[in-house]
Amino acid sequence: MNLPDGPRAAARAGQDISPGRKVCIVTETRRLVPPCGALGRLQAIRCFLFDMDGTINLGQKLIPGMEGFFDKLTAAGRRFYLVTNNSSQDHAHYVRKMNRMGVPVREQDVLISTDAMVHYLNGIRPGARLFVLGTPALKGLLRQAGFRLTTTLEEGADVVVVGFDQTLTYETLTIACRLIDRGVPYVATHPDVRCPIEGGEFIPDTGAFLACIRTATGKEPQVITGKPYGYMVETVQERTGFAKNEIAMVGDRLTTDIAFGTDNGILSVLVLTGEATLADVGQSCVKPDIILPHANDLLNYL
Ligand SMILES: [Mg+2]
Repeated sequence: MNLPDGPRAAARAGQDISPGRKVCIVTETRRLVPPCGALGRLQAIRCFLFDMDGTINLGQKLIPGMEGFFDKLTAAGRRFYLVTNNSSQDHAHYVRKMNRMGVPVREQDVLISTDAMVHYLNGIRPGARLFVLGTPALKGLLRQAGFRLTTTLEEGADVVVVGFDQTLTYETLTIACRLIDRGVPYVATHPDVRCPIEGGEFIPDTGAFLACIRTATGKEPQVITGKPYGYMVETVQERTGFAKNEIAMVGDRLTTDIAFGTDNGILSVLVLTGEATLADVGQSCVKPDIILPHANDLLNYL
């Protein structure tokens, strides 16, 4: 584990990086020093939700040490979902991506913010007529779920759905804004403003579209279904029947993955293979329940 000097030294010293908080600290020997009941909470987990980039893979490459991880997790009697806010792709896309890296997951192991959108819309208005700002993949998943999609202002809609629409045109943005202005409620798949791409750059994401729609209409979305909001937890509970204390979120980002866990009453596990460092944890108001150097370390505590 190649930690920066500061966090490495803090971890070696067993330093409490978050005074007053019950956070499990990692040591360089990868042994948890549990100052709290978090280890017991970890052993009670039946279903793990995994962020992907920074947790399982970095770009197109599997993080070293993750080979065979999901087979071992399954053999230990645990279920899992790979979760993503990115509503521009379907389940098959993530299965292909993981399979290319040697991770044998199935479509039912992937949970997209779109799934939480379907869960929400089925709860309020099954079979609703939707005007969708979204890719063909998003539209296809909504159609499969029994919703009827409209395409013109004249047709109208019961709900406007805003997703990560990489096919967005001025015409579709205009129709969405005019429908919303007329009183049609709107919902969004996720709040991310930027989607990172290779080379440290980004492309504008759904949160940026929402800012535009808010400015044009003066109206807020009725709900946003992706992380850090709780609809994906509800969706997992509906599918698995597990209670919140049997579900954990594992990820590398404090403000999305860990906030998703802490805000929604499930165990949060930060791994240090991606964005956040121990120094970041010390400086952030978002505190994980458990910190591990690597997602593979979970297997030591089940
Ligand atoms: Mg990540």
